Amino acid sequence: MDNTNAEAPEVPVVPDVHLVATLTDGTKVRQRVPRMRACTEKDEKGKMCAGHLKRWYFFGDEVKAKYGANAEIYRCEHCKTLYIPNPTEKPRTGTLAW
Ligand SMILES: [Zn+2]
Repeated sequence: MDNTNAEAPEVPVVPDVHLVATLTDGTKVRQRVPRMRACTEKDEKGKMCAGHLKRWYFFGDEVKAKYGANAEIYRCEHCKTLYIPNPTEKPRTGTLAW
């Protein structure tokens, strides 16, 4: 239940509202928007990746430390960007479940 966003970005450069972390190896971690199935990461030319997001279980210790060993992680098949679920997608949040 740790959804606090402690790291407020201080440099206002091209805000990627879905980017939540960047790993030490440069891998981006983004948050999915609800019902998202395709990667929306853009390359340097602004072309959308549109790779398929697949559940991924082979993340390393850094991801485990951030999100837990049993974290629900998705990875883009194309650009390898990692995605974490949107909080509103969780089936039993207790707030909007009705
Ligand atoms: Zn992608």
